[in-house]
Amino acid sequence: MVRKQDSIYALATPEGVSAISVIRVTGLSISEKFFNFLGIERKKPGVFLRKITLGDFSEKCLILYFKAPRSYTGEDVIEIQSHGNMVIVSEIFDVLENFGFREAQAGEFTKRGFLNNKFTIDEAESVAVNVSASSVEELRMLEDFRLGKVGHFFSNVTKKIEGLLVTIESQLDFSDEGAVGSISKNNIKKEIAVLKGDLDNFLRKYSPFQSEMMKKKVVLVGQPNVGKSSLFNSLVGGKVALVSNTPGTTRDVVRKNLFLKGVEITLEDTAGIRTGQVSEIEKMGMGLTNESYETSDLCLEVFEPEQKIKKKFKDSVLIINKSDLLKVHTKKNALYVSAKTGAGIEELRKLIYKYIKPDPKLSLVTERVYKAVVKANNSIESVRGDDIFEITAQQLRDALLELRYVYGNFSNEKILDRVFSKFCIGK
Ligand code: GDP
Repeated sequence: MVRKQDSIYALATPEGVSAISVIRVTGLSISEKFFNFLGIERKKPGVFLRKITLGDFSEKCLILYFKAPRSYTGEDVIEIQSHGNMVIVSEIFDVLENFGFREAQAGEFTKRGFLNNKFTIDEAESVAVNVSASSVEELRMLEDFRLGKVGHFFSNVTKKIEGLLVTIESQLDFSDEGAVGSISKNNIKKEIAVLKGDLDNFLRKYSPFQSEMMKKKVVLVGQPNVGKSSLFNSLVGGKVALVSNTPGTTRDVVRKNLFLKGVEITLEDTAGIRTGQVSEIEKMGMGLTNESYETSDLCLEVFEPEQKIKKKFKDSVLIINKSDLLKVHTKKNALYVSAKTGAGIEELRKLIYKYIKPDPKLSLVTERVYKAVVKANNSIESVRGDDIFEITAQQLRDALLELRYVYGNFSNEKILDRVFSKFCIGK
C-alpha cells in the first residue's frame, strides 16, 4: 500500500564546493505547478536539461524524473543536479520551500521506500551501513548483511519456528482426543536442538557492529625524550605533537586518527614516564598515560639506544628509536627505527597493522539484529519435563516475537524512527 505523505527535499551530495550538487525531492502530491516550473510533463519520466529561474538569476540544471512507483521511494522522485555551489543550492531550497515542500529528516527517503515495499528492512539498513562504512575492512565484514544473507537466515529460522509451532499447537489442540498425527517428544527435542544450533552458530559467526569498535587505539609510551612525539609525527605525517629535548613536554594525550590499509586507528602520544622530582601537572600527565595504555589495543614502548631496556608496560611491543646513532642493532625482539631519518618507519607501520588488523573471519551485523538473535536464543531453553508441548510452544512464540521485531513487526512508528534516525539526511 502506498501511503499519503507530504513532499520533502534534501541535498543528496555533501555540502560545499563540488562539480555538481544533487537535490532530491520525493512526494506523492508534488503539485502540477512544480512540474510546470521545471518544464516537465508529469506523466513522462526521463532526463531533462532545463534552465530554471532562481530569484535574480537562472541556473541550467539536469533534471531526472522517476515516476511513482518506479523510484527509490516508490513516490514521484525528482532529482535536480545543479552546479556544486551552496549559494545555488540554497536558492533552489528557497524555491522548493515556496512550493510547500519541507526539508527531509535523516533517513526519510529510505524510510518511505521501505514503507512502500521497495525493499526489506535489512536492505534499508544495509544502505545506512554502506554509506557510513569507513574502510574496506568494514565493507568486507558487513558483506553478508549487505548482500541480504542475514535477512535470508532470519526468514529461514522464522519459517522453521512457525512450522514447529504449527505442529506443536496441533498436538495441544487434539491432545484430549488422543494423538492425532502424533509427534514424539523426542522429535520435538531434536528439532529444538537443531534450531538452537542454528541460532548459536549465528551468534558465533557474527559480532554486533559498533562503528567505534572498528577503530583501534595505538599508544606510544616510554621515558621522556626517547622520541615518542617525533615518532608520532612521523606516523601521522605532520607536525602535530611538540618535539623538544626538554623532558616532560607532552602532558595531555595528543591523538590523531589515521588509516593503515583501510583500518582506522587512533594514535596517541603520551606524557613520558619518569621518577624523581616531577611537578603535579607532569604527574597528572603520567596518570593519563596509564589510562591511555589501559584502553589501548596496542602499546608501543619506545626506548633510546643508551637506555637500559626494561619494559614497564605489560604486553607492549619494544621499539628502539634513534637508530641513526647506532652502528649495530643487537636486540632481537625490538624494532629499530629513526624518527630523524625515517629508517624503519615503514616497518613500524607494517608492525602496527599486523597487530591491529581485524580477524579475517569476523563478520558483522547491526547491533539491533544481533540482540534480537540473542533474545530469541535465550527464549528457547533446552526443554525438560513433561509439559514439553506447552512450554516449548510458549518459548517458540517468544522467540518468534523477537525475530519479527527485527524484520517484520513495524506497526510501531517509534521503532521505525529509531532505525532510520541512524541515516544521514538525504538518504
Ligand atoms: P619525547 O619526549 O619522547 O616525545 O621525545 P621527542 O620526540 O620530543 O624528542 C626528544 C629529542 O630527541 C628531540 O631533541 C628530538 O629531536 C630527538 N630525536 C627524536 N627522534 C630522534 C631520532 O630518531 N634520532 C635522533 N638522533 N634524535 C631524535
